Amino acid sequence: YNTRIDAETGTKEVDALISSINHLADSLEQQETLRRQLTADVAHELRTPLATVQTHVEAMMEGIWEPTRDRLESCYEEMSRLGNLVSDLERLARIESSNLKLNKTELDLAALTARILVSFEKDLKDKNLNAEIHGSCSLISADSDRMSQVLVNLISNAVKYTLEGGEINITLSDKEASVVFNIRDNGIGIPKEELPFIFERFYRADKSRNRNTGGTGIGLAIVKSIVSAHGGTVEAESRLNEGSDFTMILPKNLEENGRQTKLT
Ligand code: ADP
Repeated sequence: YNTRIDAETGTKEVDALISSINHLADSLEQQETLRRQLTADVAHELRTPLATVQTHVEAMMEGIWEPTRDRLESCYEEMSRLGNLVSDLERLARIESSNLKLNKTELDLAALTARILVSFEKDLKDKNLNAEIHGSCSLISADSDRMSQVLVNLISNAVKYTLEGGEINITLSDKEASVVFNIRDNGIGIPKEELPFIFERFYRADKSRNRNTGGTGIGLAIVKSIVSAHGGTVEAESRLNEGSDFTMILPKNLEENGRQTKLT
């Protein structure tokens, strides 16, 4: 009788082991596919600016083109794009590496948002954009540098993709265990069919409209990685030519700082 139970238990254990090995194999295979996709995407993204610079420089070296200021500037812009791409990739790699350490402290999200908005003053002025923050009480336990990056990426997108004279509204609301951060613009919007992909690496909606904004398509992938690492979620809603709306929900997790904070 005992032996039979042992055998059954043994079989169950073996089954569980086989199942977890299969699960591990599946996830390794998925990671490998993602890695291959990423390498292909990176190669593709690097090729365009490199090819432009190479053709320009070659034509100038061979005397086919005069090295005019315009042509040199165009090379310089492509080189800057390459530079941005490489730094975005470095950031993404660091964030996605399994050893991402969050240096969490008690953080006032509203104050951080206000500080970051100030750094966009010139861009806002240049485009005559009105940006407002509503709501205030928003303490969370989070990594301040990473959270700054999230806010910079979301705000810079709102600025980039909103036409002159537009509006950007940021609202912070305090829920029991979380803080809801919403940023809404009345800019160019995102086509409905492209919305599900915007958080993917290198995805840039409607490339023809976007060509001049100098983006790399990595910003939102970074946002998503950092928000997930904090146990939060981020989602987008948008209507073409009407505007976009990004909502991020972050758990407060204040007890992680060794004390429970009661917010009023
Ligand atoms: P990028 O560097 O191209 O801005 P992101 O990853 O930050 O890359 O965003 C991906 C794409 O999502 C952008 O190329 C753009 O098409 C779209 N997008 C993001 N934010 C907005 C916004 N506020 N309004 C309109 N489109 C947006």
